Amino acid sequence: MELCDKNASELAVMLRKGDISSREITDSVFKRIDEKEHAVNAFITQTREIAFKQADLADSRFKKEENVPLLNGIPVAVKDILCTKGVRTTCGSNILADYISTYNATAVEKILKAGAVLIGKTNMDEFAMGSSTENSAFGPTHNPVNLEFAPGGSSGGSAAAVAAGEAILAIGSDTGGSIRLPSAYCGVAGIKPTYGRVSRYGLISYASSLDQIGAHGRCIEDCAILLESICGHDKRDSTSADVKNPDFRGSLNKGVNGVKIGLPGEYFVEGMDVRIKDQIMEAVTLLEKNGAEIIDISLPHAKYAISAYYLIATAEASSNLARYDGVKYGFRSKDNIIDSVTMYEATRSEGFGREVKSRIMLGTYVLSAGYYDAYYLKAQKARTLIKDDFDKAFEKVDCMISPVSPCLPFRLGEKIADPLQMYLVDIYTVSLNLSGLPGMSINCGTVDGLPVGLQLIGKAFDEEMIFQVGNAYEKLAL
Ligand code: GLN
Repeated sequence: MELCDKNASELAVMLRKGDISSREITDSVFKRIDEKEHAVNAFITQTREIAFKQADLADSRFKKEENVPLLNGIPVAVKDILCTKGVRTTCGSNILADYISTYNATAVEKILKAGAVLIGKTNMDEFAMGSSTENSAFGPTHNPVNLEFAPGGSSGGSAAAVAAGEAILAIGSDTGGSIRLPSAYCGVAGIKPTYGRVSRYGLISYASSLDQIGAHGRCIEDCAILLESICGHDKRDSTSADVKNPDFRGSLNKGVNGVKIGLPGEYFVEGMDVRIKDQIMEAVTLLEKNGAEIIDISLPHAKYAISAYYLIATAEASSNLARYDGVKYGFRSKDNIIDSVTMYEATRSEGFGREVKSRIMLGTYVLSAGYYDAYYLKAQKARTLIKDDFDKAFEKVDCMISPVSPCLPFRLGEKIADPLQMYLVDIYTVSLNLSGLPGMSINCGTVDGLPVGLQLIGKAFDEEMIFQVGNAYEKLAL
């Protein structure tokens, strides 16, 4: 096994024993990138030179310091939606194709302080709008499991990089499922924490009340290592929660004996692939055999989730994306400009891709006078009902299990022409963002060689429980 195929937790032990160096790991990762990247296209920007410098610094830190952070010397890829000082941040868009930030996002700052090695910026759907990474202005990412298939989105580049050994860990962002879906489709693990757990400072906004940063890794423990190092209160993000720093790794080995797991009836209905249902139920039975108590629960307003999500997300996006006007950031049209309105128009028409433009139009429409009450306000009311359903169900259970996606990974090109089909892929993931809850995607086997993802849903600020159950399942299923 090459070093780039090993988990961060194993590499951390080897580094501490002096068996290997960070330079060797970094070298192994870039060798894999050289072999596979032309086919996978997980990265928009690679940071090879920076990476080797950081690797050498990490190696010298082991000699100089005691209690070096676990992330020290580990190669991490970062979704291209997080600002990185001096390294371009495109958000998958032509409108930011040459944008270089003057500061680091808090999450980036934290992993760099911990000694992580930055491998590069990963591919994504433009402004994180999509479920397949096909909406990138830099070409689609291919699923390393089968290159003809989409990796899921929008953090498809991050999940694919981890799956292909082109990174050990990766940071993603999740507004409606963008960490969990690609993790499921690429057969890796991923977690979107509670809203407010990770600072959004330096995360390019899509829909601010839903956006959250999280982690991809090849196992649950690796996700815990990365998430622990990026969370925490940050006064530069007024929505970041001032709660005590969690101990995710401390909860990993507590097992499932006596844990109450809810199964939402509404999530296992017609329309989903029965092969996925069977696979999930097999996992549920395994947990039950090992002492978990399985309880049927109901989330009666689940059916409104997709509609509420796509109204709220597009409304917020239309406002957030107003800032790309050819003046403040990045691209400006070279058209014959006669006044500022013409310049805005030309810049935005050329700079944004099709999906982003259609969402800006939809979002502007639902916020406009006369339609606000009928759409936006109604969606916010539905959001409250969806959250109340979870609150009620969580009186009876410690966590919940559902599929991540109603369908198996799909082929590149298969759904891109039909937005509704694409939006429906998010049916099990968006409710968590609407409610601010943490969710984890864990691989639970394959169907026809394609990975199936199981979603664990936790109470707000109780990621420990999903790490506990997720890790227990991973060990039992091995
Ligand atoms: N697929 C969803 C969307 O397009 C979710 C994307 C995300 O989580 N960033 O909005």
